[in-house]
Amino acid sequence: MAALALAAQSAIGKINVVATTADFAAIAREIGGDKVQVTALAKPTEDPHFIDAKPGFIAMLNRADVLIEGGAALEHGWLQPLLQGARNPKISGTAPGHVHGNDGINMLGVPTSVDRSRGDIHAEGNPHYLIDPMNAKIVAANIAEAFSKAEPKSYEIYRANLKAFQEKIDARMLEWQKQMAPHKGASLVAYHDSWPYFAERFGLKIEMFLEPKPGIPPTPSHVASLVQKMREQKVRVILVDAYVNRRQADSVASKTGAVTVPVSHFPGGVKGTEGGYIQLVDYLVNSISQALAGAK
Ligand SMILES: [Zn+2]
Repeated sequence: MAALALAAQSAIGKINVVATTADFAAIAREIGGDKVQVTALAKPTEDPHFIDAKPGFIAMLNRADVLIEGGAALEHGWLQPLLQGARNPKISGTAPGHVHGNDGINMLGVPTSVDRSRGDIHAEGNPHYLIDPMNAKIVAANIAEAFSKAEPKSYEIYRANLKAFQEKIDARMLEWQKQMAPHKGASLVAYHDSWPYFAERFGLKIEMFLEPKPGIPPTPSHVASLVQKMREQKVRVILVDAYVNRRQADSVASKTGAVTVPVSHFPGGVKGTEGGYIQLVDYLVNSISQALAGAK
């Protein structure tokens, strides 16, 4: 009983933070430390574009002091009706408690004309920017600003945590770049077009996908032409997100002599990445560089 009472008490006074996905939640915990209570709506193994809204989501959003969303239409299919149901002015679209993660991000793949009839769910540019660690530094700053507005008396703490996180990224980046350096220009295949920022940061080419268009499942004719291109260009590594059906990726791998690498953008999406954002990037850099080294 005493422990329960203590737990209830320690939750009081914390900023109540809801993040749409586990990557934003992980960075929010880095910045907020024990001053915040953070919940992610999506499981790390779910496709961020298509989340099954649970009955508790509206109540969670109703109680939130801060909401962190990726923006750029990442949550286009599911967040808006939940926000309407939550009726929480603290996190309405323009409130300081509503963090649009992509503020200040140099967006890639912004189309010059929008045509949703083609089924393209990246109609506002590619929303998977957070997997570039340099973008994680920008998002962390956006989050620190929102926390400071929500609870100004802890401003110094958020600023110190932000600085520590950014310095950790900078230190690890030197190692990550070193590990990836031998693979400059290497080509990989991915299931979904969620890797352009990672590819640009580490000098990779990730331009062929199992999906014919973002959000459209693989078709037999598209897969056949992909297999042909992979054979011609000797592409031997396929990145497979935790939320996709592995069967098609395995079939393409067996036809092309490629290896599949389980990947995720979300801490906890693959085993051994539960420790947070930096551990996730460690895992990606390790597993992708190993796969490329073995595929040569
Ligand atoms: Zn996407």
